[in-house]
Amino acid sequence: MKGYAMLKIGQSGWIEKERPVCGPMDAICKPLAIAICTSDVHTLWEGAIGERHNMILGHEGCAEVVEVGSMVKDFKPGDRVLVPAITPDWNSLEAQAGYSMHSGGMLAGWKFSNFKDGVFSEFFHVNDADGNLALLPKSINIVDACMLSDMVPTGFHGVELADVQFGDTVLVIGIGPVGLMAVAGCALRGASRIIAVGTRKVCVDAAKKYGAGEFISYKDGPIYKQVLDLTGGKGVDKIVIAGGGVETFAEAVKCLKAGGKIGNVNYLGSGEMVEIPRVEWGVGMGHKMINGGLMPGGRLRMEKLSSLVTGGRLDLAPLSTHVFDGWEHVEEALFLMRDKPADLIKPVVKI
Ligand code: NDP
Ligand code: ZN
Repeated sequence: MKGYAMLKIGQSGWIEKERPVCGPMDAICKPLAIAICTSDVHTLWEGAIGERHNMILGHEGCAEVVEVGSMVKDFKPGDRVLVPAITPDWNSLEAQAGYSMHSGGMLAGWKFSNFKDGVFSEFFHVNDADGNLALLPKSINIVDACMLSDMVPTGFHGVELADVQFGDTVLVIGIGPVGLMAVAGCALRGASRIIAVGTRKVCVDAAKKYGAGEFISYKDGPIYKQVLDLTGGKGVDKIVIAGGGVETFAEAVKCLKAGGKIGNVNYLGSGEMVEIPRVEWGVGMGHKMINGGLMPGGRLRMEKLSSLVTGGRLDLAPLSTHVFDGWEHVEEALFLMRDKPADLIKPVVKI
């Protein structure tokens, strides 16, 4: 089978591989549509997870099941499915402890294009099919379905990590597709005021639709100063970080109220240290919690999040700004995600 792979750090291309083998609890799927993620960019061009050779890229897509193992109960060949980017081993001790995303080791629930071949391939393998796949509802089109793999669950997990409550003032740093879903999640959770950080017009326009009311540009000086100005010096109750870099945490701590929480879902692709400012962190006693996490993955989350779409509470259409037809466009879509032109939020390729 053909797959679009990371050949080594900084180099990608098409390769031939054996079709994956289906274990008793697994499924083999063929993509209906795939989406490119900023994480693919970190992995391929920044080498953020280290060297990988001839590893097929991609962890976002929806698919048709072509084969299932003998123990799979709820899926059969021909089913159209949502596929989460994170596919934990649900019988692991880590999953039993509530950290499915770390099943088998830190971040090891993230398998596609990390520990095994990803979904930019004619066929791909899904472990624990009953625990990880979800049926694709008929009313969700295959382009929007791709947003349920990672963008929706990751943005919403940022909101969970920040523990957003009714009436909170929330700062969302970064309004690419992940941050946009964090804005949507904050609105659904009852935030009263959502301040968003980002500059691309297409993202600002989408963030307004999802519920952000005020905007800050990180290009206009320190974020924390602008937030303190907007909040009369008080700062915000919660912060979701979905953009920036290692230096963003210091800014966040400086404009977070005592007792506030930061939920980070940004993938820190470079930089050695995350520095926390001592005084603004309450000299160690400010109850300013910093929580960073990979989204949990799995079937239940796919079913619940897709029900927000089928129920009319979440519109995913604004996210997919560039939609292509056919495998031959995968490279173009990947390079678009790296170069982030002004009109791009998310590129999707229908197969
Ligand atoms: P994008 O690159 O599309 O968006 C990044 C956002 O951050 C943009 O709004 C950008 O603004 C803004 N930004 C850039 N530089 C700064 C800065 N210095 N300070 C503040 N904001 C800044 O990314 P995605 O939305 O696709 O992904 C966001 C992150 O989430 C990535 O790191 C990605 O790898 C990660 N991720 C994490 C996952 C998880 O499970 N934890 C899963 C999937 C993705 P501008 O408008 O100017 O471009
Ligand atoms: Zn992703």
